[in-house]
Amino acid sequence: MLIRHSLIVLLALKKKSKPSWSIRDAENVYGFARWGAGHFSVDEKGRLCAHPAGDHQQICLLDVIEEAKSKGLRAPMVIRLQDLLHRRVKQLNEAFIKATGEEDYTGKYQGVFPIKVNQMREVVEEILDAGEDYKFGLEAGSKPELMVAMPQIGRTQLLICNGYKDEDYIRLALMGRKLGKKVIVVIEQLSELEMIIRLSRETGVEPIIGVRVKLRSSGEGKWASSTGEGAKFGLTAGEIITVTDTLKREGMADALKLVHFHIGSQVPNILTIKKAVVEATRFYCELVKMGFTMQYLDVGGGLGIDYDGSRTNYESSMNYSLEEYARDVVANVKVECDKAGVEHPTIVSESGRAIVAPHSILVLEVLDRITKPLSSPQGACDESEHDVVKALRETLKNPQRLAPLERFHDAQQRKEEAQSLFTLGYLDLRTRAKAENLFWEICRDIKRAADKKGYVPDELDQLQYTLAEQYVCNFSVFQSLLDHWALDQLFPIAPLHRLNEKPVTDAILVDITCDSDGKISEFIDLEDVRKTLPLHPLKKNEPYYLGVFLVGAYQDIMGDLHNLFGRVDEAHVFLEDDEEDGFYLEDTIKGARIKDAVGMIQWESSDLMRLMKKQIDRATKDDLVKPREGVRFLDLYEDLIDGSTYLCPVHKKKGKK
Ligand SMILES: *Cc1c(COP(=O)(O)O)cnc(C)c1O
Repeated sequence: MLIRHSLIVLLALKKKSKPSWSIRDAENVYGFARWGAGHFSVDEKGRLCAHPAGDHQQICLLDVIEEAKSKGLRAPMVIRLQDLLHRRVKQLNEAFIKATGEEDYTGKYQGVFPIKVNQMREVVEEILDAGEDYKFGLEAGSKPELMVAMPQIGRTQLLICNGYKDEDYIRLALMGRKLGKKVIVVIEQLSELEMIIRLSRETGVEPIIGVRVKLRSSGEGKWASSTGEGAKFGLTAGEIITVTDTLKREGMADALKLVHFHIGSQVPNILTIKKAVVEATRFYCELVKMGFTMQYLDVGGGLGIDYDGSRTNYESSMNYSLEEYARDVVANVKVECDKAGVEHPTIVSESGRAIVAPHSILVLEVLDRITKPLSSPQGACDESEHDVVKALRETLKNPQRLAPLERFHDAQQRKEEAQSLFTLGYLDLRTRAKAENLFWEICRDIKRAADKKGYVPDELDQLQYTLAEQYVCNFSVFQSLLDHWALDQLFPIAPLHRLNEKPVTDAILVDITCDSDGKISEFIDLEDVRKTLPLHPLKKNEPYYLGVFLVGAYQDIMGDLHNLFGRVDEAHVFLEDDEEDGFYLEDTIKGARIKDAVGMIQWESSDLMRLMKKQIDRATKDDLVKPREGVRFLDLYEDLIDGSTYLCPVHKKKGKK
């Protein structure tokens, strides 16, 4: 009995001494399971692992970084999980195949990838490879995109041509037809019709024509303006009649085969999609009834990504799954066609974001942190101290005297008083510093107390944000996360290691551009948006890596050279059973060198070098530098112009030597 009793005590003790933070907590705080769709897990050492095939095979992201480092890459770096890209293509196609089966849909599904979402060669090639059995094709939205897409496409896949077109664009598309390819020119503007008719006569090529319809049902979310009556694309009902009449008159009625719509990207609400599908199917059925031999219904893009994992119709989320999307598209097309007695069309979709977003991870290294003045209320209160400092000290020492909010206001007033006195010349620098330090100390104290309570007034709630540390990360928001800056889009962010340690620092992230907008101060949360991200304290001489996830769509390609920070390094990863760590790096691509970035704006590195050399020679002649020193300066300049545009952290420099 006694033994049993002590065993229970022992167990209880054990339970109590359990660390207050586990890997489960990390998974919960950073939401890997919610937005990761089974592609991420944390290993027992607290390192983040990827599961690109959605199964047990895993790749530790830190291993990838290490190997990439050995090949000369460094953060900021994009890791591409090529197998995940493959998987997404399959998932999309299988979802539609399943849906057509379940709904007794007699038509097929044949998708295309809109290459504007990510035009990287490795990305496009991987998608075509994964989609080969499904005859998965491409969509181009501009002449240069069509130039890229044309040679990639064979005779079985579709090549959909959207966007504004000139004669050359149309000529190129017709050339594709001549080569036996299924190139479909989608009329977005009435003026394109005349060109298509004229050029097809001229070249003797029979085009396949589609019409982009302007739907009444408009999208919602950040990209909603692609639709509705004010949209810049698409034909109104009246314009479609003009197209059909003209085609009939010109004896080209057989060329019209496709109805297309696109209600904007990242549609958060499935109801919006259903409404648009119904309306577009009505257009399709009407055209069939008017005698056109229609064949394809193209539902465009819009299929979302659940960036915050909340499964809601919040703009960074979506309230449906890929499977539900496929089923709803298929079911609604079927119902409308059956009502009208029209044969089921081949359904085409142009899902870009949903295919490419998950496969790439932006790796950031934290270089430094900016902290609000730390405690050290220098020395004890001495009688000669300025009254304003004494008052602040009083406020710090007697938390009970005032209610938290009142205490905060009190401290705020004293701090401002100290700052005014300083400006007027009544306070010296040291005293002002003391007053400010005390103020921040009081804020910290108030926040600590507030954290223990449930509800706190707004002003005090803001303290968390005001007091947050700023983690300086070696990257540019404008180059690598443009949508975060431009559209407040949220991406999941998490440390790639130390996930077995409790993250005790509330931080926001700032980049290394000289732009106060170059920061991330909004993060995903299950409800609403969180203002800070819990992170780990930095360790000396040990890199701290963060991952920004789901960045494979659009971000890769829209980057901007703000402050001349260029494209980042890239590591392309494949699963490999034969390797001990389960992967191999198929390719490493160095990001922009400084000479590339400045070359884009017409600064030839050779010119810069020549000028620099002239100045150094001059300085040598004037005896400002020794000849050998001068040579070293020039070597340094030459080295740097060949180097990365990003910062080189000190510990790496040391390691190099
Ligand atoms: C941008 C675009 C797409 C891709 O949309 P996603 O929402 O990323 O899938 C598809 N079609 C057209 C016409 C587009 O302009």
